[in-house]
Amino acid sequence: MAQIIDGKQIATDIKTSLKVEAERLFPLVGRRAFLTVVLVGDDPASRSYTRGKIKACEFVGIDSDLLEFPSSVSEEELLKAIERLNEDDKVDGILVQLPLPAHISKQKVIDAICREKDVDGFHPLNVGRLDQGYDCISPCTPKGIMRLINSTGVETEGKIAVVVGRSNIVGKPVAKLLLQANCTLIQTHSHTRDLDSITRMADILVVAVGKPGLIKGNMVKKGAVVIDVGISRCEDGLLHGDVDFESTAENASFITPVPGGVGPMTIAMLMANTLECYKKRNNIL
Ligand code: NDP
Repeated sequence: MAQIIDGKQIATDIKTSLKVEAERLFPLVGRRAFLTVVLVGDDPASRSYTRGKIKACEFVGIDSDLLEFPSSVSEEELLKAIERLNEDDKVDGILVQLPLPAHISKQKVIDAICREKDVDGFHPLNVGRLDQGYDCISPCTPKGIMRLINSTGVETEGKIAVVVGRSNIVGKPVAKLLLQANCTLIQTHSHTRDLDSITRMADILVVAVGKPGLIKGNMVKKGAVVIDVGISRCEDGLLHGDVDFESTAENASFITPVPGGVGPMTIAMLMANTLECYKKRNNIL
């Protein structure tokens, strides 16, 4: 039976050590780190994620504000607001909560955030630097996934890692991080044939699709580390992952629950990235 990777506890431990770090930095810089979260529209899930991020800032000791726009805001107006945040010296991090309304180009908005304040790590310059293995802001969810894998004590070197999903936000960047950790990597997607036989090769299996229960226990190798990124609210009103927990836990050595696995780590890594931007902007290495 698999051991559960307690993402909630690991995230709390990380935030607690970031709080100590924030306290140490405060007198050196003369002000606290500052994160601006931009929220467009009134999507309840986005609003709830945003609340979680602001609450985490309060816990760690990062100043924050929430900049809200109605869903009717024009792309031009939003881009101008981002430009103002880029120029505002007290702002260390800018996070635009996704998704955005259809009339606004997500890519234009991401491109507009200056790289030094890109706490999500989505800017093409950060993405390119991650690809090349250079110093960069890594995206929060993939960074959190790597911390969860490392928390198991399982060595990544030479292991076969299978990533199910290839989105820009999760699948592609986590694949790059696994490769940097010297895994042998296989990336799958919606056109992959015979997914079962590929997932069964994985020593480390990361699933980021958004299809509840896609991965069943018989698709998982005995002793694999299984990281379930998926979060879907189903008809039963509950949140479900992409992995069928019960059957998979019988085969895996370690497994993340949903909720309480990857989700809390994403927020903890956002806090880490905000402090990283704050330190770099203030020449603290
Ligand atoms: P996307 O919809 O952007 O990407 C989904 C990926 O899954 C695509 O690459 C798609 O392939 C692939 N896919 C679809 N069907 C299959 C299939 N049958 N077999 C293999 N691959 C398939 O989703 P995201 O990456 O943004 O998110 C994935 C999940 O993770 C969602 O449930 C989301 O809510 C959750 N999530 C959780 C976070 C957290 O903090 N816990 C953070 C971000 C996301 P193709 O490219 O061919 O279309």
